[in-house]
Parts: sequence; C-alpha cells; structure tokens
Amino acid sequence: MTRRVYLDNNATTPVLPEVLEAMRPYFGEHFGNASSIHHHGQETRAAVERARESVAALLGCRASEVVFTSGGTEGDNLAIFGLARSGDHVITSTVEHHAVLNTCKRLAKHPEPRRCEVTCIPVDGRGLVDPADVKRAIRPNTKLITIMFANNETGVAQPVAEIGKIAAEADIYFHTDAVQAAGKIPIDVNEIGCDLLTISGHKLHGPQGAGALYVRKGTQLEPMLIGGSHERSRRAGTENVPGIVGLGKAAELARAGFERGDERKMADARDHLERELLDIEATGLNGEGAPRVPNTTNIYFDGIEGEALVIALDLKGLAVSTGAACSSGAIEPSHVLTAMGLRSDRARASIRFSLGKQNTLEDVDFALGLIPETVGRLRDLSPVYQRVRV
Ligand code: PLP
Repeated sequence: MTRRVYLDNNATTPVLPEVLEAMRPYFGEHFGNASSIHHHGQETRAAVERARESVAALLGCRASEVVFTSGGTEGDNLAIFGLARSGDHVITSTVEHHAVLNTCKRLAKHPEPRRCEVTCIPVDGRGLVDPADVKRAIRPNTKLITIMFANNETGVAQPVAEIGKIAAEADIYFHTDAVQAAGKIPIDVNEIGCDLLTISGHKLHGPQGAGALYVRKGTQLEPMLIGGSHERSRRAGTENVPGIVGLGKAAELARAGFERGDERKMADARDHLERELLDIEATGLNGEGAPRVPNTTNIYFDGIEGEALVIALDLKGLAVSTGAACSSGAIEPSHVLTAMGLRSDRARASIRFSLGKQNTLEDVDFALGLIPETVGRLRDLSPVYQRVRV
C-alpha cells in the first residue's frame, strides 16, 4: 500500500480523535434542538454554550461575543455585508482570500443605491501590507477595514495590531480573517484591537462546516440569515450542534498546544523542510523576510509547472498544493503571489507546503525523500528549464 503523507493542512486539517469523540454523542443520544426548552434541548444548549466558552478562551473575548457560523466564508461575508451600507467605503488588501475579496467586489458592484466604494491596498515583495498605506486610504466615509491575519498561501502574518490601532484612532471598524492564524498562533482580540475576527473549524483540526465570528460588544451587525433569534439575532438557523461541539473541542486542544509550545515544534519541522528544499537549485521562498505562521512554507521551483509537480508527488503519496486556482481549464497564477510581484511563470512554479498537528518529522523526511528527485525529473523534461540552464 502507498504510504500517504498529507502536507496540505491549509486546505483542511484532519479532525483530531479527541474532537471526533467529543462530537460523536451529538449525532446520537444528544440530538435535541438547542432552542427546545425540554431536557433534550437543554442538553444540547449546554454543549453549545460550553463550546462558546472554549472559542472565547481561544480568542481572548467574552462568550457573548462569539457567533457560530458555517465556517470562514460565512464569517467573512457576515462581517462585511453585516457592516457595509450604501455609500460606505471599505478598505481591504490585494492578498485576501476570495471569501473577502469577492465579497468586497460584490459591494462595489451593487446596483445603486446600495453600492459601496472599495480600496484594495497593495502588498510589498514579502506579501506585507504597510499600515501607513491603510492610514492614507482612510476617507470620511470609511466604515470598515478588512485585512487578513495570516495568508492561506504563504502564511505571511500582517501587522494586524498596528492596523487595529489605526482603525481605532479613526473610529472605523476593523475585521480580520484569522482563519489561517487560529490554532497556529495565540490570538487575543484585544491585543489586535479588532471588532470582528473570523475563524473556521476545519483549519484547526475541527470539523468542516463549523466556524465562528467574533463580534465586539456593541457592534451593530445586520444579520445575513433572517429567521429566528438564534445567536442573539446575529445568525438565524438551528445550530449545528455536533459541528459547534467539535469546534469547541478543537479550540481547547489548540490552547493546550500553545501551553506545550507546539508552535515552536511546528516551526522547527517547517524550517527543516524549507532549508532542505531551498538547497535545490533555482528555488526560492515566497514571503521571505516576513513574519509567518509556523506551519506554512511556499516555495518556487523555477522551470516547473506547479500542477505537474503536485500530481507527480500525489502519485508517490505526498499531498501538497499550488497557490494557483484552476478555472475553466486555464490555470491562473495565484493572485497572492502576483500581488507580491512574482512573474506569472514563477507564481505557477510555486508550491505550498502546510503542516498540521498530525505531521511528524518522519513525514517531513518522506517529503524530502521525494521532492528533489521529482523536481529534477520534471526539469529534465522541461524545455523552458533546459533553455534557462544553457
Ligand atoms: N479565509 C481564509 C484565509 C481561508 O484560508 C479560507 C479557506 O481556505 C477561508 C477564509 C474560507 O473558510 P471556509 O473553508 O471555512 O469557508
């Protein structure tokens, strides 16, 4: 049987066994609707509120400020659509996830009179937003700044606390998409100074389809889903109890990991992988010199089609990914890497490696046993690379 190693944890993470165990009873004996007043409802309500406490502890906020959602996309949509009104100005960055970028694009495309203005702040070659650019972009009608915490392709961490300060001074709401930061590095919403912060269960070894949005007390958020008064009227709909319980357990485990210093171990394994890969000729690190979350590295292998490398490695049991999005058969280079100034061939030659809690040093060594040889073989077949070498 092929040994399989998964180094694509920024796409999704495996549910940890403790998380699965915590969720299991809520698919079976504890089936109540958390809004019911009888015993069955009380049981699941208590579980939802325990999970809310756990998520609040992970983020350094009050339980009442946690709104459960279906994941990162919904959290980002709720934060942006929930605040931006006709005629408002919104500031974002060029390297956001599409859950933010396309939501902002939609705001800008709304037919009058609901249209908003959107400014996209560029990043430098390391992938970093300059807080001074954010400050300069502020207008009298700026309502919201939405800039991500950690990038999903490069792991680059933005100076969110500095941006939070600028937002607070200008009395503007600040939302940060922390989907790729939560569980990887400690988060404190008060240190960041944000009003809204998105997380997603499946990126921190919780289940897919469950997430949370931190909403600072007093923030007037218009709900997107209209119905009952669930989640203090901020998100209607019967709660996904097993998912929420799983997210709560994943949040607890993430906090326990920080106490053990897991992120240091993760960074050591990532750095080992990175060092060895950068020893291969004509490679480079995307995001070099920027602060990054400890699990991610994004490397270009000149002369190679990233998709071809992903497929060749998958055939040998290693799962990694490109930053490129494939649409209508044409492979578009990653908007994140091109925003950082990479040539499109180099963006297409880039691969993201992202570690999870389940990965071991043996997994990294397995990857290192495959990648140099596979890169060499693909380059031997690449007329582009052969030309460059001559
Ligand atoms: N934001 C970021 C930075 C992400 O990486 C992702 C998922 O890849 C999302 C938002 C969307 O999260 P979800 O898959 O939970 O909808």
